[in-house]
Amino acid sequence: MERQKDWTNILFLSLTPIIGVFGTAAYALKFGVEWWQPVLFLVSYVLVGLSVTAGYHRLFAHKGYESHPLVQAFFLFFGAMALQNSVLKWASDHRTHHKYVDKDWDPYSIKRGGLSAHIFWLFYKDGRAAGKYDNVPDLLKNRLVMLQHRFSSWIGILFGLGLPTLVGAAFGHPVAGLLWGGFLRIVVIHHTTFFVNSIAHLYGNRPYTDENSARDNWMLAFVTNGEGFHNFHHKFPSDYRNGIRWFDWDPTKWLIRTLAGLGLARGLRATPRPVIERARLKMAALEVQSRLPDVPSEIREAVRIRMDRAGQFLERAVAHWNRAHEKKREWLEQRASSVRARTWKKNLRAHRGCVARAREEWRAALKILARAPETA
Ligand SMILES: [Zn+2]
Ligand SMILES: [Zn+2]
Repeated sequence: MERQKDWTNILFLSLTPIIGVFGTAAYALKFGVEWWQPVLFLVSYVLVGLSVTAGYHRLFAHKGYESHPLVQAFFLFFGAMALQNSVLKWASDHRTHHKYVDKDWDPYSIKRGGLSAHIFWLFYKDGRAAGKYDNVPDLLKNRLVMLQHRFSSWIGILFGLGLPTLVGAAFGHPVAGLLWGGFLRIVVIHHTTFFVNSIAHLYGNRPYTDENSARDNWMLAFVTNGEGFHNFHHKFPSDYRNGIRWFDWDPTKWLIRTLAGLGLARGLRATPRPVIERARLKMAALEVQSRLPDVPSEIREAVRIRMDRAGQFLERAVAHWNRAHEKKREWLEQRASSVRARTWKKNLRAHRGCVARAREEWRAALKILARAPETA
């Protein structure tokens, strides 16, 4: 079936880069750059960008946490300024992407090529019957989301271009405001968001799963407020974090934690540590297995023992973790019993110990392999 071209999108996505990049550059060459212009760009980039990542993506599309209606309203308002459709449509497309990743139904499947996943998929109307959003029943019930769905383009154009123009006017240069905080910001957020669909499905490593094309790419995380850890994200999509190590650049995760600290977000969903480690061990085991046939049999045996032990330690870690949380829940529900609190903390400590032991074992296995002589 011939897909229908979406001329509004084609024109909009072709003209905005010309105005945003070349227009801003030409203006800067002619009139110079004043300090407030890059600042306006950065502030609007952060406000709108985080509304897409913490709001559109991790809150509405994946339910990685719950948030106060005020926070939702903020994300819906500033997110609309990204001009990436309403949350309803965005989240529906995105849930389809996760469900059918790399398959025909994936709206931005990388199998149709990098450029298609990046932008060309937007040049066609989607085939779905108007108003058919059966994979977002929770959002259809959210009145704020439905309100935004009706007005998102208007909010995006009126406020997304109007507000920076007003800021520019306050400094005596409305056009500079429109270019830096409006068009340039729109283009940069468009393409950095699109990079997650293109680059993050092409370049980077796959520490958690090889079941799909998603990659962890720390460089991409810097320009996407933390969305570059896409391999982790596809393996554990409802985790409110994408970069899970403390030093991973994930400002979206830090924002969600801050909101939780302020009482504006709760129910942050984090995958248990041993479950994450189990995924990593599975990937490490695949690598080990591919190299085993090339080494002498006694080394093969030593490596196997280490890997098995790593798996056993992780199973024990999962058991300790489950018990810790069971005791914590009981302790919270029944308020009291220092015995339960002690058991909870003891199991939590034990689970950490088991994770550490598991890691030691599989690192040792990799080390043995690395030093092993190859059989002829
Ligand atoms: Zn993806
Ligand atoms: Zn996602």
